Amino acid sequence: MELVHPDLCFQDGNVALLAGGCHFLVHKGVLERHSPVFAQLFSAYDWNRPNPFRDQPILEVQDSVEDMAFFLLALYDGISHLKHNTLDFPNVSAVLRLATKYQVKRLRQDVLNGLSQVWPRTLPQWEIREANATNASGVYEPRKVLPHPILIINLARAVDAPYLLPSAFYDLSRCYPSDTAAGYKCHGTQELHHLSESDLTYLLKGREHASRFLSTFIVNELESREPTPSCVHIDESDPLQRRHCQAAFDAITFEILRDVNGVVCHRSSDPLFAIIDAELMQTRDEPAAHFGTSMRVCEPCRSAFSAAVDNARDALWRKLPEWFGLSLHSWP
Ligand SMILES: [Zn+2]
Repeated sequence: MELVHPDLCFQDGNVALLAGGCHFLVHKGVLERHSPVFAQLFSAYDWNRPNPFRDQPILEVQDSVEDMAFFLLALYDGISHLKHNTLDFPNVSAVLRLATKYQVKRLRQDVLNGLSQVWPRTLPQWEIREANATNASGVYEPRKVLPHPILIINLARAVDAPYLLPSAFYDLSRCYPSDTAAGYKCHGTQELHHLSESDLTYLLKGREHASRFLSTFIVNELESREPTPSCVHIDESDPLQRRHCQAAFDAITFEILRDVNGVVCHRSSDPLFAIIDAELMQTRDEPAAHFGTSMRVCEPCRSAFSAAVDNARDALWRKLPEWFGLSLHSWP
């Protein structure tokens, strides 16, 4: 029996694509218009071959039924309905892979534009993405909403989309290396996805760079940080009061180090988060029983530290391609 796709089988279709044993009766002109690869395939085709499908010629292609269905739907209906979450990832991945294979440039670019909102080139976009992955109770849960970065890295490699890689590598570098080496098992298909051996090496090296960067930041900018010349406590007669801001920076250092060890938030290796958290601790209303106002520095000291935080995070973001062994024409 002939398998026919229930949706993508037009009565006035004039070419049947046979993918994974299933027929898609579609329009030759539409495919030719969007894809130089299909145009080439059609121009080389022997249109007098026997055994047509519903009187129309059959072109067999080496794609799965699911991939071809997602791709043709995107071609006919557009991709405005697509989300870049876990649920839609098989669809996004199929459209991007086939749009690349068949050189449907605009479709490929549209998918890449969407993906780059979640796997961005700039730090401000990364902040938005991180905020969107935090639930209403303030719990950060990227894996519940975003595709696993191993999937993104492998997809970016497959379709030559290198600008998705720095943020995906950074995202993955925050996981335990043993988890990453074990691979990611897809909940739906139970398929196990691994990084290539070379990408795993790049990841581990980048993770070490990121970790060293945080240590350097803590030593240079946080631990026993000198008060600014305009510190409001600088002229206090009581030596303890005079050291107020320095002591507060030390208390923050202690908190950050606890966090690095994953004791507090389990965001164990996220320097971008740890560095901004060092600033946020100074203004956050924490329960008094925890650490009260011991981490509050004066406004001039906070402002000077805030500038150091911004500089460090910008510098970190700029370093990502180098750390993870990626050569890009420009970054960010
Ligand atoms: Zn101060």
